[in-house]
Amino acid sequence: MPIFIFLAKAMSKNEIARQRCEQLLELAAKNYSADKKLSLRYVTLARKLAMRHRISLGGKKFCKKCGTVFIAGETLKVRLEPKNKRVQWICLQCGAKKSFGYSKKQPAH
Ligand SMILES: [Zn+2]
Repeated sequence: MPIFIFLAKAMSKNEIARQRCEQLLELAAKNYSADKKLSLRYVTLARKLAMRHRISLGGKKFCKKCGTVFIAGETLKVRLEPKNKRVQWICLQCGAKKSFGYSKKQPAH
């Protein structure tokens, strides 16, 4: 079945790219305190790679506005809004805010 082979190949390629993206983001986090420019470069590379392979990076690992990798307490401030059951993430580099809901129950599928 050629179509299945094609799909399997496409999937494994994407899987490799996704792993590479994660590695790049890990490196970005590791190198942030030592070399911010290098860290930013890793994030840029990961984003480009993700774009090329149409992978979603989720936007929880780095700031979409300035590209700074999120490190809790260092580049990221997390604020809980229990009233709305929302979490607000604030990038300490550019001040961009991102909020999303949190709940212990996963929506049923
Ligand atoms: Zn930012």
